[in-house]
Amino acid sequence: MDQIINFFRNYARERFGRRVKKIPVALPFTCPNIDGTKGRGGCIYCYKGSRPEHLDPRTSLREQIEQGIKHAKERYGKKTLFFIYFQSYTNTYGDVWKLKELYDTALEYEDVVGLDVGTRPDCVPNEVLSLLSSYKERGYEVWIEFGLQSANFETLKRINRAHGVSELVDATLRAKAFGLKVCIHTIVGLPGEDREDFLETAKLVASLRADGIKIHPIYVMKNTGLAKLYEEGRFKPLSLEDYVRYASEMLELISPTTVVHRLTAEAKKPALLAPDYCTYERKLEVIKAIEDYLRSRGSRQGAKFPFPSLSQEPQERKCVSSLSFP
Ligand code: SF4
Repeated sequence: MDQIINFFRNYARERFGRRVKKIPVALPFTCPNIDGTKGRGGCIYCYKGSRPEHLDPRTSLREQIEQGIKHAKERYGKKTLFFIYFQSYTNTYGDVWKLKELYDTALEYEDVVGLDVGTRPDCVPNEVLSLLSSYKERGYEVWIEFGLQSANFETLKRINRAHGVSELVDATLRAKAFGLKVCIHTIVGLPGEDREDFLETAKLVASLRADGIKIHPIYVMKNTGLAKLYEEGRFKPLSLEDYVRYASEMLELISPTTVVHRLTAEAKKPALLAPDYCTYERKLEVIKAIEDYLRSRGSRQGAKFPFPSLSQEPQERKCVSSLSFP
């Protein structure tokens, strides 16, 4: 069947000629938005730094990688290739020599073809980008994932991100100049946002020619600031129908060559409070609903890319200076 979304799994199979899986690892990193450097308490939705529940940062990196590879080979076959995915907290936040030791360890394993490093856009000095770029020069593929979440600065303040949009633009341009592949992480349905915000966020990702995107619905985890708003009745996550519509519209705006690393979110009850479609069991249902929605409209990822500029599509707008005031 024709692929209407450029999923990472398809991109990677074409690029490497074999099935490629990500092996997530969780290390004892922290985050400048938690330890007081930029902020305290973290983003209002942050739950254990987005660490997958089956991972324990007290387990050594080698053990996590070896277990992950063993499990993946049993499930997906011996020829499977791997990216080591530094997922939880801020994986570039530390001494560069310590980071080098960790990244070097990850790349020692046979069948590992690259790194995928999740971080914040205000946490990537050039020396770290240079280090990551050195692995690319050795033939590995290196992705860096920047959490943006929203292109609306007011939202970023509301959710306590402790960085702005400008940091994301700066980090993306620098990382691309170092030859890294940039994936931008977005969230749909943040408090106070509407469709226009979601589409603007997608347009920013498209404008930056990001190599990859993650799109997922906001979900509420217990013991977070967002949980408090939810329990007080001051915040309601998107329905599945609304999420599917907005995520589809965002996909239409981004380039067809941008690699889609994620289209939903998964967590486990009882830590997950809402919405009930953000579970491992319903992951495929959400993705299929987005594909079905696009197909039903005869649409696809990139159908509206490049999105029209004012010069391409005259609109009923006048420059303020041409208006007459009483
Ligand atoms: S940047 Fe990530 S790890 Fe840091 S507080 Fe926000 S969600 Fe948590």
